[in-house]
Parts: sequence; structure tokens; C-alpha cells
Amino acid sequence: MAGKLRLEGKVAVITGGASGIGEATARLFAAHGAAVVIADIQDSLGCSVAASISPPGRCTFVRCDVRDELQIAAAVDHAVKTHGRLDVMFSNAGIVGSVAGFLDLDMANLDAVLAVNVRGTAAAIKHAGRAMAATGTPGSIICTASVAALQAGFAPAAYTAAKHAIVGLVKSAAKELGKNGVRVNCVSPYGVATPLACEGMRLPPEKVEELSCACSSLKGPVLKAEDVAAAALFLASGESAFVSGHNLVVDGAVTMVNGTAARIIEELAT
Ligand code: NAD
Repeated sequence: MAGKLRLEGKVAVITGGASGIGEATARLFAAHGAAVVIADIQDSLGCSVAASISPPGRCTFVRCDVRDELQIAAAVDHAVKTHGRLDVMFSNAGIVGSVAGFLDLDMANLDAVLAVNVRGTAAAIKHAGRAMAATGTPGSIICTASVAALQAGFAPAAYTAAKHAIVGLVKSAAKELGKNGVRVNCVSPYGVATPLACEGMRLPPEKVEELSCACSSLKGPVLKAEDVAAAALFLASGESAFVSGHNLVVDGAVTMVNGTAARIIEELAT
């Protein structure tokens, strides 16, 4: 497998592709031969990331606010018009929102978090699924959920609810789009030191990584955006040809372990 291009001739749209996990995935998909369309609201960052990916034209940027269904439809349309097809949708744009506790839950913030994470994902699945069905493309749709889609305690309630909802959307879409040969999966990262995580936790990147490593059962590696991109590449490529409706958790077994119970039992045993 070494050196094999895993997405040669494929066309991918990546929402939230201007930064963090989306940017790392845009670079990896392009390196594996895909034509990539970055769809994001950060115009200058998105343009400069796209321009930095070679060869020229391999990656392009379109402004797309995922809260607006029409803008998602337009981004998909752009990919199909430019490249003739859509093989991969990586619905990855997300926000954390306010970190206020439940008793101070701000309903406008709840709506805002759901609008980006849930409405945006639903619209991305819908329009990518339509484009794939229209051209008979056996595509792959990948949505970024989170460890917060499995357990409480990692993030505020609105984000936790939104990420749980993404898993539900993915399961439903995997069931419905399967008849068109379209696979739909999630990738669920643990803490990666991106702008979203650093701003959400109000910590510098090195502290986010320190915290991430301290809580992980897996010692040694530091989780990077590139590790999540590698998981997305697997789900995008033919290597996962029969994987659909799956949530690929990239968390060093954090969600497999009840940390509090493990710590208390360890302390009692020593
Ligand atoms: P990031 O801040 O680096 O990237 C998020 C991107 O989404 C940005 O480029 C931003 O401009 C874009 N975005 C935000 N709102 C948008 C909108 N309305 N329309 C289009 N684009 C929009 O953060 P990241 O960590 O790379 O986040 C990517 C995904 O990973 C998110 O869905 C996030 O919830 C998820 N995630 C991140 C972590 C982590 O620890 N970093 C963990 C689990 C899940």
C-alpha cells in the first residue's frame, strides 16, 4: 500500500476546511490525488490554504456558511460543475458556542450551535447525497462528531447535544442513502489543539495537548489534526468500502474508560 494514492480522480468538498482538522484533511486528500473544494466562512484563510496546496488548481475555496442550506447546495454545485462529480463530502464545520453551564443556558446560543453543527451537517448530507445519487456516484459522506457525541463532560450541553444529533443523522442517512451505494459515517475526535479547542477551553495549544495526553489511556502519541485526517481518509477511500453508519472514534480509548472509577480503584489498590 505504501505510496498508493487512495483518492486518485476523486472530488471532495470539505466544510470547515480552512482551519484545523478540515485543513489537515484538505491537504491529505489532495496529497492522495483528490480535487478538493474547501467550503468555509474564513475567506482569506480558506483562499491561502487552497493556494498553498499543489499542484495549482488541486484545491479551491468557496465561501459557504453551512447555516444556509442554499450556500451548501451552491458549494456542492460548484464541485460538480468544476469537476464533473462529487465523491466525498466531509461535513466538518463546527463551533463550540458558549461554555456557560446548563442553569445559565442561553437559548440563542443553543440555536446557534445547533444551526452550524446539526443543520449544517443535515444540509451537507442532503445536498451531497442528492449530487451523488444524480450521477450514480457511490460516494462517501463523513461527518465530524466528537467524543462529546458519546459522553457528557467533555463540552457544554449545547455542543454535546449537537454532536449526539450528528450521530443520529449519520445513522439515518446511512440507512436511506445505502440504496444509492452512498456510505455515511462519522469521525469522532478527542481534544486536538485547533483554534476551536483552544478558544473553547481558553487554553494555549500546548496546554490543550497536555490535558489531552493526561486524560488519554494511550500514552506516547499526541493527538493531532493529521490523525483525524487519516481516519477521514480511511472513510473516504475504497478501503472502507463496506463501512457505513459507523462512528470512528479517534480518542486513545478515552471514552472506553470511566476515568473517575479507574482512578479510585487504582488508588484503593495501592
Ligand atoms: P477549527 O476552528 O480549526 O475549524 C473549524 C472550521 O469551521 C473553521 O475553519 C471555521 O471557519 C469553520 N466554520 C465555523 N462555522 C462555520 C460556518 N457557519 N460555515 C462554514 N464554516 C464554518 O476547529 P476544528 O477543531 O478543526 O473543528 C473541526 C470539527 O472538529 C468541528 O466540527 C469540531 O466540533 C470537531 N471537533 C474538534 C475537536 C477538537 O478538539 N479540536 C474535538 C472533537 C470534534
